[in-house]
Amino acid sequence: MPFRSRYTGLIEAYRDRLPVNDDTRIISLGEGNTPLIKLSNIPAHLGKKVDIYVKYEGLNPTGSFKDRGMTMAVTKAVEEGSEAIICASTGNTSAAAAAYAARAGITAFVLIPDGKIALGKLAQAMMHGAVVIQIKGNFDDGMRLVKEVADHAPVTIVNSINPYRLQGQKTAAFEIMEELGRAPDYHCLPVGNAGNITAHWIGYCEYSSASGDHVTGACTFCDGHCRYADGAIVGNRPRMLGYQAAGSAPFMRGEMVDNPDTVATAIRIGHPQSWDMAWKVKEESGGWFDECTDEVILAAQKLLAEKEGIFCEPASATSLAGAMMDIQSGKIPEGSSIVCTLTGHGLKDPDAAIKQSTSPMVTIDADLESVKRAILDNMS
Ligand SMILES: *Cc1c(COP(=O)(O)O)cnc(C)c1O
Repeated sequence: MPFRSRYTGLIEAYRDRLPVNDDTRIISLGEGNTPLIKLSNIPAHLGKKVDIYVKYEGLNPTGSFKDRGMTMAVTKAVEEGSEAIICASTGNTSAAAAAYAARAGITAFVLIPDGKIALGKLAQAMMHGAVVIQIKGNFDDGMRLVKEVADHAPVTIVNSINPYRLQGQKTAAFEIMEELGRAPDYHCLPVGNAGNITAHWIGYCEYSSASGDHVTGACTFCDGHCRYADGAIVGNRPRMLGYQAAGSAPFMRGEMVDNPDTVATAIRIGHPQSWDMAWKVKEESGGWFDECTDEVILAAQKLLAEKEGIFCEPASATSLAGAMMDIQSGKIPEGSSIVCTLTGHGLKDPDAAIKQSTSPMVTIDADLESVKRAILDNMS
């Protein structure tokens, strides 16, 4: 007898809330169940009384939240008899698609922007044996091509326009509700295609619906995929705050952006696929969108690494950067509880980390005297 039951992935954990049945062959790598870490130093650093939690999605099997959606999308693709999947990607979707396809024994085709993908993500896609197709264009070009080619070839799209992706991703909200015993007041996310902010809202709505009171309406997001589609949704839900990189902020501009640019490559997206749904999330939750400059994003990434010991990739730090901005201004009032999703691991993009690092690095002779001197010179 094991001491406690083995965790075997989010589909098993939330089977009754996901579109699977008893015969479904589940393609899982043990994704989900990520830590919700309460920040202990940054609130004091800001001089504000707030509870900030980070949901460290970088600890999923391939290092980003994309695994939550991919376990579901690949499980359903296999169930439907598909032998190949395809996606456009800024990197993390391709890493997840490659890994889950390897697990399932099917082929993954990934379209990535030539030269604009973080090194760790490229290494993953290649290592897992995906067919990597670099295009001389950006993510938005890749997305358009994937949609076109899927009409002409026997491949299943596993971008977040695949509704099973959002079904898998909604489970992050379930985990947060279960750990906190209620919804946070604010939930902050980086926004690229806006699939994840939509998925979280679906999750919060379903969870509060399942737990009972304050009926306010029906779940209008899931296209009939969730079992609460005709049911009711309720009160205790967070305001959803979506933050974009300033050079890639279509939700702030109120229109699509043609040449998005930011160091946060995972959200370098000018034509978000979940445009309408994201606006609905903002309206229904009473939340807002805002933008952060690359400088502010990188500063938040570094602060989190230095003050809390948590390493996320630049795009992920956008949620914390935005939250800190709104806490400082008082838009998020003191006394609030805030969850920031850290979408991907810092090791995904070692170049961005090393480029902005200010840690002292000294080279010395290999003798005791030199080491002693190096220590004394660098004591803070
Ligand atoms: C995919 C991704 C995002 C953006 O998520 P959307 O659902 O496209 O809004 C943010 N951060 C990281 C690290 C990602 O991989």
